[in-house]
Amino acid sequence: MTYPFTPIGIVHSPYKEKFGIPRQPALAPAADIQIELLPPFNHPDTVRGLDAFSHVWISFVFHQTAQRGWQPLVRPPRLGGNAKVGVFASRSTHRPNPLGLSLVEVRGIDLSNGVRLHLAGADLLDGTPVLDIKPYIPFVEAHPQARGGFVDGPPPCLEICWSQPALQQLAALPAAPPALAQLIEQVLAQDPRPAYQDDPERIYGVRLYDYNIRFCIRDNHAHVLEIQPFAP
Ligand code: SAM
Repeated sequence: MTYPFTPIGIVHSPYKEKFGIPRQPALAPAADIQIELLPPFNHPDTVRGLDAFSHVWISFVFHQTAQRGWQPLVRPPRLGGNAKVGVFASRSTHRPNPLGLSLVEVRGIDLSNGVRLHLAGADLLDGTPVLDIKPYIPFVEAHPQARGGFVDGPPPCLEICWSQPALQQLAALPAAPPALAQLIEQVLAQDPRPAYQDDPERIYGVRLYDYNIRFCIRDNHAHVLEIQPFAP
């Protein structure tokens, strides 16, 4: 049996590529993520009462990796990329059904032109199809004593060092989003490198909005080297 689903919304996100997206929501709250509801779901009636809830569950499609299939065992980055766990013991994007589930804080609901939810950070790529939105119910769903398996606690964060050129480029950017500097810091603090890479000489680029942020990681510090307008 198959069950066809129709996206009810689409994500607008500063994350234009997978590299650099935090591995879970709430790790980079400076990311202004929006969900635009699509017709016929973009009527104010569909979100009536939602503003009484602070958080929502977002069900979405891992659309960029959906064609890659899945394996019964995966290597979670939190285990260093070597140890394997079952796909259903992980939050891997490579699943039999490529569905994601993120719990996010709602900053506001804009009804001025259709329906747009503003979210305080989320682990969602630009263009992600959203299948459903449901309010989070703390008394049922909050379990502070729950066991977290191999992700029992937040990941360690890197310190951030800004180079002088990067600071000057940031100051000179025309119409940069107000929280861009914070977002850069929050994203790089998560250490976006693949688990198996530890080369202090290597320079990486992460795309946020329409900017390419060049950085390297040395001695537990992320060094912001350059901020340039993104050129494909
Ligand atoms: N919180 C969700 C969950 O647990 O189902 C997602 C967790 S998954 C580990 C988070 C990663 O999914 C992000 O770091 C990003 O690389 C990837 N991702 C986000 N949106 C995606 C999309 N539309 N298609 C493919 N990968 C995506």
